[in-house]
Amino acid sequence: MEANCFICGKVCKAEGCGTGYGVDSHGHKICYDCAGKLDERNLRKMKIGEKTIHYLKRTVIKKFENAGESCEYEVVNWPGTFRHHLTLLRRGRHNIAGEQVHFRLSLSGDTPLRFHCVHYGFSNTQLHVRRIKG
Ligand SMILES: [Zn+2]
Repeated sequence: MEANCFICGKVCKAEGCGTGYGVDSHGHKICYDCAGKLDERNLRKMKIGEKTIHYLKRTVIKKFENAGESCEYEVVNWPGTFRHHLTLLRRGRHNIAGEQVHFRLSLSGDTPLRFHCVHYGFSNTQLHVRRIKG
């Protein structure tokens, strides 16, 4: 199945198991590239205290023989066309989810922006992103 992107007009072709496009809140079909730009713009428009949900991508950089591994963390949108490096702040316990991991996201630009991100539990990749002061 093919569709034209509502924003750039490009034909979205299915890739792998994906449809090649996403659907926005108005039902418009949007290609992955435009979705990435849109997510970036929306993130930069967020006011202090505002929240959104993106996804956490964990990449193992190095595995240690005895235990543990060293990882790199990124916030991504669902097609992965939007991504930013996250700084790991701390890992803690959570009553219900079992674990919570806190991250800092800093964006440079005309107005540098800071966000606090939290991921709960082990069986999902949802990342709760909140704009903070500074
Ligand atoms: Zn597009």
